[in-house]
Amino acid sequence: MARFYIENFGCRATQADGAALERQFLERGLEHAGAARDAEIVVLNTCTVTEGADKDARASIRRLQRVNPDCRILVTGCYAQRAPEELAALPGVTWVVGNSHKHQAAEIATSLSVGFVPLAELPGGQERIPPFRKERERVGHPALGQLFKAQLSGDRTSNVIVGDIFAHTELLAAPVFEAANERTRPNLKVQDGCDNRCSFCVIPYVRGQSRSLPSERVIAEVRTLVEAGYREVVISGINLGRWGRDLPAVRYSSLAVRETPPESPSTSSFFGAQESAAKRTAGSERRIANSDQRLVDLIRAILSQTALERLRISSVEPMDWSDELIGLAAASERIAKHAHVPMQSGSDRVLRRMHRKYRPWHYREKILKIRKAMPTAAIGADVMVGFPGETEAEFDETRSMIEELPFTYLHVFTYSARPGTPAAEQPGQVPVAVARERNRVLREIAAGKKAAFMRSLVGTVVGAITLQSGGAEFTEALTDNYLKMKVSGHHEANRWMDAKVEGMNGEMLMGKPMVGPAGEPAWREPGWSVAHAAPPIVVA
Ligand code: SF4
Repeated sequence: MARFYIENFGCRATQADGAALERQFLERGLEHAGAARDAEIVVLNTCTVTEGADKDARASIRRLQRVNPDCRILVTGCYAQRAPEELAALPGVTWVVGNSHKHQAAEIATSLSVGFVPLAELPGGQERIPPFRKERERVGHPALGQLFKAQLSGDRTSNVIVGDIFAHTELLAAPVFEAANERTRPNLKVQDGCDNRCSFCVIPYVRGQSRSLPSERVIAEVRTLVEAGYREVVISGINLGRWGRDLPAVRYSSLAVRETPPESPSTSSFFGAQESAAKRTAGSERRIANSDQRLVDLIRAILSQTALERLRISSVEPMDWSDELIGLAAASERIAKHAHVPMQSGSDRVLRRMHRKYRPWHYREKILKIRKAMPTAAIGADVMVGFPGETEAEFDETRSMIEELPFTYLHVFTYSARPGTPAAEQPGQVPVAVARERNRVLREIAAGKKAAFMRSLVGTVVGAITLQSGGAEFTEALTDNYLKMKVSGHHEANRWMDAKVEGMNGEMLMGKPMVGPAGEPAWREPGWSVAHAAPPIVVA
C-alpha cells in the first residue's frame, strides 16, 4: 500500500487544509508514513505570505530530493497558486496543484501515480483553466502557458494544475491542533478567502473570495469534537469576522448582471489582471451576498446547540468587533476572554497606503471598548513595520499607540514585498536594518506589556486547561486569557480547572489548582456548560 506524508507550512488555515488533505488520502486507501523519507508521495502544503516562506518551501524540496529521491512530490498551497511555474521548474517536483484544485490533490496524486489523467477529465478542470492561462500568458508568463498545454495534451513531465482562484467556491478544512505538541485544543477553520485588498497582502489572490462553512456544518463539526472529548475549540478563518456574509449559499444568477469595469492602470498588476479577468469571464455569474448572517450568530448557535465548554475566537478585524460581539464575548462564561485584533499600523497615512479600512481612532476605540467589557482579557494585535515609505514619524505614531493601548501580547512582522501586490511597486522601500530595528523596539514594548499583565494576575484565580499530561512536579496549562501556566502537581491532559496564580517565572505563570471544601480537586467536569447556554447580549 502506498504511503503518503504531508508537510504543512504557514498559518492555521493552511494547517487545516493539510488536515483535510490527510483525510482524503486516507479515504483513498493510502497509509500515513511516519516521516517524509518513508513515503512514496510527499505533499508540500506551502505558504507564500513572505519571501522567507517561499524559501522554506524550496529548501524542503531540495532536502526531500536528498533523503528520498524516489518519492513523488506534490506541491500545493498558496505558493503553488502564486508561482506554479517557479515550483514546476525545480528538480523532483512531480505535480504542482494550486489552491484552486487543492481539494482534488489526493485524487490527482493517486490517479496520476497509476496512469495519467488529463486535467480536462477532473471535475471543473476544463472550465477553470483557460481564463487563468490566458491571463498569465497576457501578463508575460509564456512558460506557464506551455506547461498547461503540455498538461492538457497529456505530457507527464509537466503536471501543473492551477486554475482561476476567484471562481473557486470550495472550502477545504478539517480540525487541527494549535501546536504540534498539543492535543487538547482543536482549531476549526470556518471561513476562507478574503474580499479585502490590503496593498501588501497576497492572500486574496491565492485563496480567493471570502466563503463560509455553513452554520449547520460548523455545529456538526463542533458536536463531533465535543463527543470525542475536546473541551476547548478555536474557530478561525482567513478573515473570520466576515463569516456568513456569503451565506446562505454562493448562488449565481443570469439576471441583472452588472459588468465589472476594466481595472484602472494603477491596479493593473498581474493579480489585478487575474482578478478582473475572473470577474469578466464569470460572464453571467453573479455572487449574491445575503447579509443577514454574522459571526455573532454563528457563535450564539454554537453556544446554544452544542455542549462545548470553551470557545476561543481567533483573529477578527477591528471593524468586525461589533458591540454585539463584544457584549456576547464578555457575557458568556463559555467564550475565552481573548481578543486578537489586527492593527498593522498606528499611522493614518500608513493605514491608508495599506488600504486598511479603519483609521487609528477607530482602532483605539475598539480596543478600549473590549478592555472595558473584559477587564482581564488577553488583547493581542498583528503589527507590521517597514511598510514602504514608513517614515520615522509614522513609526513613532505606531509605537506611541502601542504604548498607550492595553495590549497583552503582540505579533510584530517586518514587511516583505510580495511580487504583484501594489505595495511591492511603491517607492521608498525601507532598508532592512531600519525595519529590523523598528521590529526590535516594538517587541521590547510588547514584552514589557506582557510581563505587566502577568504580574497583575498574581494572587487571582484564573480558569485554565491542561495542554498535555504533566510531569511529577507540574503540568502545563493555558489560561482562559491566553497565558501559559505551570500548575503544581501531575494532571492529565484536557483537565479544566480553576487555579490560583502564585507567581511568574519568565514567560510562564506559576499556579496552584483550587480544591473543594473536602480538599478534592475542583475540576470542571464535562457537561457543566449545558446549564450555561447562550447568554443575553450585554451591550458594551
Ligand atoms: S484583511 Fe487584508 S491582510 Fe487580512 S487576508 Fe484580507 S487582504 Fe490580507
